[in-house]
Amino acid sequence: MFKTIESEVLKQRISNELRTEFLQHDFERLHSFSMLVLYVSICMWFLLDLIVSFQAGQGFSYISVLYLAVFAALAALAALTRKARHFYVINLLFVITFGLGARMVIEGLPNSLRPAWLVIAASTVLYSATAMPLSRPAFFSVLAVTWVLLNPLLGDVPDFDERRSLLVCYPLFISALSVYIFHHLHNAKLYNYAMARLLLDQAYLDALTGIPNRRSFMTRVTRRLNEDTSTERYLAMVDIDHFKRVNDAYGHDIGDEVLTRVAQKIESELGEFEIARLGGEEFGIFLWGMTAEEAQVRMERLRSATAALPGKPAVTISLGLAHLTVDSTLSQMLIKADRALYDSKHNGRNRVTYAP
Ligand code: GH3
Ligand code: MG
Ligand code: MG
Repeated sequence: MFKTIESEVLKQRISNELRTEFLQHDFERLHSFSMLVLYVSICMWFLLDLIVSFQAGQGFSYISVLYLAVFAALAALAALTRKARHFYVINLLFVITFGLGARMVIEGLPNSLRPAWLVIAASTVLYSATAMPLSRPAFFSVLAVTWVLLNPLLGDVPDFDERRSLLVCYPLFISALSVYIFHHLHNAKLYNYAMARLLLDQAYLDALTGIPNRRSFMTRVTRRLNEDTSTERYLAMVDIDHFKRVNDAYGHDIGDEVLTRVAQKIESELGEFEIARLGGEEFGIFLWGMTAEEAQVRMERLRSATAALPGKPAVTISLGLAHLTVDSTLSQMLIKADRALYDSKHNGRNRVTYAP
């Protein structure tokens, strides 16, 4: 089963919306880790700065303080940001600052040591970038900026003829390795996310109508009941009238179309609340933030809009609306709404009954 779903997901083209959603999700999940990487990078740069200042006898200058201030400002921005695409820009600015700062410090080392330190600094940045929650363009910008600022063959470095080939080959190797790791990690995470979404949709959406199913309704409404203890909460049960006759007269397929049409009407009228197909031709609606009169008006509007739906056969719905008390449980409310629905059926159908 898992293999079937996996191959189904791998065959599908992942939409741009899903990619964007994944990138935001990945960023949120790895936000604290990314912050840790930034803090450790600042500490490493500072350590390198101290060692070099001490070794080369340069002394600690105001420029170091300036760099630390820029690092701190960027880290604060990264900690505050909640959007992945803002984080990519901040991260790139951080890498630019780190690159400039590292090159400045390394320029203070003896000539013969510089290329090795530049390669170490660049490798550190690239390895960190492979684990960061970045989009492809964000990762490749980091790669490009790193080799522009920390390239051992650029800038004031000695001319090592015999070591030149190593200084070309090793950065190429490191770049290829980090691109490979980033690419595979990124794809694995993306496909896992797509698969989790597909499985969740299958578990929590009704396959026929596409609106949430009973499991989803129970989970969400229970959470809302625990979070919000106001008295302006209502539960409605909706049932299509004489639906068996529709199936008998027109067939099951037309019956399915009617079910979908009614579900879409409920979604268009009350989509901002919790709605679900509870099973068969029964739907549930959980409403809040309105008076009992307003809730009844909304139900009445849904009833008349359903009766006026174009397409054959025309159907009507009966509704039972229950007012939730502060301490009522979901199952008590379902029973109360079901009784009100029974009264609607009993009194001639195509009506709303309110149970205060
Ligand atoms: P009432 O007005 O009292 O609610 O009458 P009713 O005929 O709607 O109620 P009843 O419970 O007797 O029949 C419900 C019917 O809904 C029976 C069942 O075949 C049909 N049904 C349940 N699920 C589906 C479905 O997924 N598709 C179709 N086409 N029919 C369904
Ligand atoms: Mg029924
Ligand atoms: Mg019915």
